[in-house]
Amino acid sequence: MGTLNEADDGVDRDDPWGSWRKARPEPSGLHLDSAAAGRSSLRVLGAVADHALLEAKVGAYVAQEMAEESLGAARTALARLLGMPEEGVAFVESATAALGALLQAWPFEPDATLAVVPSEWGPNLAAFVRRGLRLVELQVDADGCLDLSELDRVLQAAPPAAVHITQVASHRTLVQPVADIAGLCRAVEVPLFVDAAQALGHVDTATGADVIYGTSRKWLTGPRGVGVLGVASQWFELLRSRLAATAPGTAGESVGTLLSSRESHVAGRLGLGMAAREHLLLGPSAVWARLADVGQATRRVCDDLANWQVIGPVDGPSAITALRPTEGQDVMQARSHLLHEHGIVTTGQEPFRAPRDMTSPTLRVSPHVDCTAEDLIRLRNALAAI
Ligand SMILES: *Cc1c(COP(=O)(O)O)cnc(C)c1O
Repeated sequence: MGTLNEADDGVDRDDPWGSWRKARPEPSGLHLDSAAAGRSSLRVLGAVADHALLEAKVGAYVAQEMAEESLGAARTALARLLGMPEEGVAFVESATAALGALLQAWPFEPDATLAVVPSEWGPNLAAFVRRGLRLVELQVDADGCLDLSELDRVLQAAPPAAVHITQVASHRTLVQPVADIAGLCRAVEVPLFVDAAQALGHVDTATGADVIYGTSRKWLTGPRGVGVLGVASQWFELLRSRLAATAPGTAGESVGTLLSSRESHVAGRLGLGMAAREHLLLGPSAVWARLADVGQATRRVCDDLANWQVIGPVDGPSAITALRPTEGQDVMQARSHLLHEHGIVTTGQEPFRAPRDMTSPTLRVSPHVDCTAEDLIRLRNALAAI
């Protein structure tokens, strides 16, 4: 993985966000789509390419043995970000694959209930139903944030088998108070699962939940095709016995290893490790604060557009902004127009992404820490013309 430490991290402390941009390939346009996939640094791309070359030189499985130490460093960095023990960290292909591994491994009783909020990510809802879970919907406030006193009441009155929360919504400005939720769940011993696909590298994910999973390519700007899952130590024994029972020759393996996919994109895992360590060196809390600022600046700049309406609180701590067309514009065409006429990368979102929360398509804008005031004016002018 190559060394990376404070002394040679290439971060200009006077202009950390400018050096974040300089550490990446020159963008061909204006990239405001980190919620889909962030732009990787040259160092991350190099870690991936180096390992792929090594595989072809020495043999892929020999290369994997040679990378053991770097893979361990990747696990250490991810464990820190998730606030989980290293033995509980698993590498899989995506957040979707992480949820699949979790749902398969978890000992749900038949007819078990899972508590969710209305803004839950659509594909997760489908996975819960496929697993045979009955969903109960928790009440939220006007912004879509979980009502903690209502959660407490439900946990006391009719505790579900587990609570599942998507920490940072994918489709609009919405961050759930996961650390508070974890405290309430722990008090009544109801496990809390957290989808941190949009949270990892964006907000604090070391929240004390029982299981936290996410993806490499979004706010952490690691490679595509890698996801991560962290399990808290109180579940090790139960999960290890369940997992080892169906996997011959795995006695003594950690829960993280047992939950990890076997044949895998090792180069991608090394790239994710590099991305996580870059994030740690930049200073996670500085990144989170910067991303909140960037999101708020985006919403403020777009707030007085006549033809687009900013959805949700301008001051929310998320770098994700959703815009609703107010003059009947077709969102998918608008996304395409922004890309092809203005070189601005965004996402057009159909309601299936959050079927209990969205009723019509919206446009998602998700800049990263390098976003400038000029970038936002360029976005605003382009939007005004649609
Ligand atoms: C992107 C996303 C996922 C899926 O992540 P993959 O790595 O693409 O599987 C899950 N949940 C949320 C909230 C997401 O935004």
